[in-house]
Amino acid sequence: EADLDLLEITEDYGDGVVYLPALPVLAIVGRPNVGKSALVNRILGRREAVVEDKPGVTRDRVAYKAEWAGRRFTLVDTGGWEPDAAGINAAVAAQAEVAIDLADVVLFVVDSNVGATATDEHVVKMLRRADRPVFLAANKVDDSRQEPQASALWSLGLGEPYPVSALHGRGVADLLDLIMQKMPEVSNVAKQEVGGPRRVAILGRPNVGKSSLLNKAAGEERVVVNELAGTTRDPVDEQIELGGKVWTFVDTAGIRKRVHLQQGADFYASLRTSAALEKAEVAVVVLDVTEPISVQDLRIIDLVLESGRALVLAFNKWDLLDDERRRYLEREIEQDLAHVTWAPRVNISARTGRHLEKLVPALELALESWDTRIPTGKFNAFLAELTAAHPHPVRGGKQPRILFGTQAASRPPTFVLFATGFLDPGYRRYVQRRLREIYGFEGSPIVVNMRVRE
Ligand code: GDP
Repeated sequence: EADLDLLEITEDYGDGVVYLPALPVLAIVGRPNVGKSALVNRILGRREAVVEDKPGVTRDRVAYKAEWAGRRFTLVDTGGWEPDAAGINAAVAAQAEVAIDLADVVLFVVDSNVGATATDEHVVKMLRRADRPVFLAANKVDDSRQEPQASALWSLGLGEPYPVSALHGRGVADLLDLIMQKMPEVSNVAKQEVGGPRRVAILGRPNVGKSSLLNKAAGEERVVVNELAGTTRDPVDEQIELGGKVWTFVDTAGIRKRVHLQQGADFYASLRTSAALEKAEVAVVVLDVTEPISVQDLRIIDLVLESGRALVLAFNKWDLLDDERRRYLEREIEQDLAHVTWAPRVNISARTGRHLEKLVPALELALESWDTRIPTGKFNAFLAELTAAHPHPVRGGKQPRILFGTQAASRPPTFVLFATGFLDPGYRRYVQRRLREIYGFEGSPIVVNMRVRE
């Protein structure tokens, strides 16, 4: 039973989210209306991204788990927010910038019926500077008569334009085959860092104090200037020594830079958040204690949960907290953060430096939980005790039994239960709860999946 196929369990059998960290990333970039979302749907083989390619449509999702020819990767659609004419240049440039920061391979999409525009040329300049493989898709080539239009795109200087029709699927498979040849097995970013400093993302909505926190951390401690042998540093990341250990803070450029876009700011914020999460092992979600916990805060926490990364909550601006607000805050935490009571909380002030030193033990605890492996024997003893104390309720005259269980993955801890019948989601939550009661797993999401065996 030990040689469980890890890939097989990435299917989700219930409410849990399964994530295998460090999948390589393919990012799609292009002007509005060139057919990016049609292409995303085509690659995913399902209509998940967005149904219509309407200007101005805001998509919530940015990253998708995709698979091609047995290879799994993360597909990032940077074009989820389509600006109006005035904002196009800035918006597409911002997309390209994010794509370059986070992707292993970039797919640049041009509308072959329109040809290369000034915006396209601007983006190409950015893409050419990046040391990532870039593929050029000439979209909307619905039949062979249109292929000469694609050839005209050689002029962009990005190499061969591949004629595709995202709508009809024409040419997409061949292009994906070529892309796969350039895709690393695991994301390059992660590969560089194996065994190196642990990767932390500082997340939060604007003005909660992310950059203040980063500056305070970097200011009081040492910013490490590329002295670690063998690590190629990503310029958007910073290595900072905290608590006697070096940490990589990912996408700090995203925090320091601040893209000033009037429209679509929310979309770019979630793009950045997703990008940072792809690279990180643990996320610090910063909340501003002077303001009520908002939908936006909760959305960011959800993104962390979806990504399967470890989580620490930092309640910032503690120096501004008065007794009244404090009572409200406690109530908000009880109501809104009930699903993440397992996340370590630190109450800090990025301004005064209060309790910043508590961040390190919280990060260490969360990562330790995230890395935890429970040996199969121990886990089955746990299951035996649990099922003896509280068997699954009878359903339709049958009582599903758990035959066996194993931890199939860590980062985050992912368990598979083999059962004689479908286990109620409620029962799986009970297993999850007991796991936390016994093993803690503070700071890490845990996933419990199920497989039915006859
Ligand atoms: P970011 O957008 O999340 O990076 O937020 P900033 O770091 O730019 O902070 C937004 C504002 O909150 C700035 O005016 C900071 O000076 C202020 N601020 C940040 N942290 C604290 C804190 O701990 N206490 C107080 N009083 N102000 C803070």
